[in-house]
Amino acid sequence: MADTTLMSIPGQVDPVPVARDITPREDGRVDLMGLPKADIAALFEGAGLDKRQAKLRAKQVFHWLYHRGVTDFEAMTDIAKTMRPWLTERFVIGRPDVVEAQHSTDGTRKWLLKTPDGHEFEMVFIPDADRGTLCVSSQVGCTLNCRFCHTGTMRLVRNLTAGEIVGQVMLARDALGEWPQSHEPGRKMDFAEVESEAEYTSDGRLLTNIVMMGMGEPLYNFDNVRDALKLVMDGDGLALSKRRITLSTSGVVPAMARCGEEIGVNLAVSLHAVTKDIRDEIVPINKKYGLEELLQACADYPGASNARRITFEYVMLKDKNDSDEDAHELVRLLKQYKLPAKVNLIPFNPWPGAAYECSTPERIRRFSDIVFEGGISAPVRTPRGRDIDAACGQLKTTAEKKSRAQRDREEAEAAATGA
Ligand code: SAH
Ligand code: SF4
Repeated sequence: MADTTLMSIPGQVDPVPVARDITPREDGRVDLMGLPKADIAALFEGAGLDKRQAKLRAKQVFHWLYHRGVTDFEAMTDIAKTMRPWLTERFVIGRPDVVEAQHSTDGTRKWLLKTPDGHEFEMVFIPDADRGTLCVSSQVGCTLNCRFCHTGTMRLVRNLTAGEIVGQVMLARDALGEWPQSHEPGRKMDFAEVESEAEYTSDGRLLTNIVMMGMGEPLYNFDNVRDALKLVMDGDGLALSKRRITLSTSGVVPAMARCGEEIGVNLAVSLHAVTKDIRDEIVPINKKYGLEELLQACADYPGASNARRITFEYVMLKDKNDSDEDAHELVRLLKQYKLPAKVNLIPFNPWPGAAYECSTPERIRRFSDIVFEGGISAPVRTPRGRDIDAACGQLKTTAEKKSRAQRDREEAEAAATGA
C-alpha cells in the first residue's frame, strides 16, 4: 500500500528519497490523471479489454483527457455509448482540490490546492501583455532551506505525483476556460489535429508558458516532474512546446544533464551569489555541489545555445550579494565558463521573519547596468502578486502558517504558565 504520510526533512541538502503515491481511492476506481497512453492501455487491458481494443480506447481517452480537458467519460462522444459506463465504473479523471483561489490587484492569480491525502500546495498564474505564465509546484514544501525563501521554512515535505503536477496545468486551463472546442459539436474527433503555435501566442490571456518555479526543488522529484512535463509537451496531450517550459533548480548538479536529455526544457539556475561563503550561507546546497561544479554542469547542459540561453536567477539582498564587485564577478564567471546566459535580477520578496532586506532600487539598477555593460542581458523582474503572497519565494501554505501561529501560541502559553 502506498505510504502517503509526510516525511520530516532529513537534512538541509538531502532529497526526498521516495516518490510517494497518492492514496488509493475509497471507491476502488483508478485515477487516470498523470498516466501516459501506454499505462492507460495496460489498465484497460487489465480490466478485461483485448490488447487491440485497449490500445485504441487508451488513445481516444488520452486525447479527451489531456487535449480537451474532459473529466467525464460520458462526454467522450467517439467512444461507444455502451462503453462509457464501463469506464465510469472503473476509472476517474481527477483534478487537485481547490481550497482557495485568490486574485491579486495586478491580475496574478494564486490557488491553494490539496492532494487527496490532505497535503496543501500552491500554484500561481501570471498574465502579461504577450504571454500567460503558470508557475507550477513540484513538492509540498522543500527540503533545501534557502535562507531567503519562505517555502524552505516548511517543516514537512512530500513529492507531488506526476498527476498532481500535470493536474495543476489542467486546473489552470479549466479556470481560464481554455480547452479547445470542437468546431462542429458531435463531430468525430480528428486525432491528427494539433494546436498551432499561433493559438498559444495570439492572446496574452492564454496560458502560454510554464515555469517549474513554485514550491519545491523539481530535480529532487525528477521522475514525476519528467513524466508530467512529457504529458504537457505531447502533441496529442497538452501540446505545449518545450521552448515554452522552464525548469528552475537551485543546483542539483547530478540531475542537470538528465534534465536536458530526458526532458529538454529551458533551464534556469538559482545562482544568487558568486562566492563560496555567501552561496554556502544563502543556498545551502552549495556546500554539496559548489559553484565550479554547478557552472560546469551549465556549460554542459544539453541543448543550451545562444538561441536558448540559460537563465541565471539572482535575488537582490541588501549588503549581502549586491555590490559592484559581485556584479563584476558574475560577469567574469559567466564568461569564464562561456555560458550562453541571461541574468534575471529578482528583487527580494519579504516574508515575516525573513533575515534579509531587498536591495535599494538604485543598487539594483547599478548592478543590472554592470552586468549589461559586461555584454549579458540582466533585466530586473517586476514582482507580481505580492499582495496575495504569490511572488517568488513567498509560497507557503496557510496550513503551515496556521500551524506555525499555533506553535507560537502554544510556546507563549507554555512560557506564561512557566512550563
Ligand atoms: N526550487 C527551485 C524553484 C523554485 S523557487 C529553485 O530554487 O530554483 C523560484 C525562484 O525564486 C528561485 O530562483 C528562488 O531562489 C527564488 N526565490 C526564493 N525565495 C525568494 C524571495 N523571498 N524573493 C525573491 N526570490 C526568491
Ligand atoms: Fe527550495 Fe527553491 Fe526555496 Fe531553495 S529557493 S528552499 S530550492 S523552493
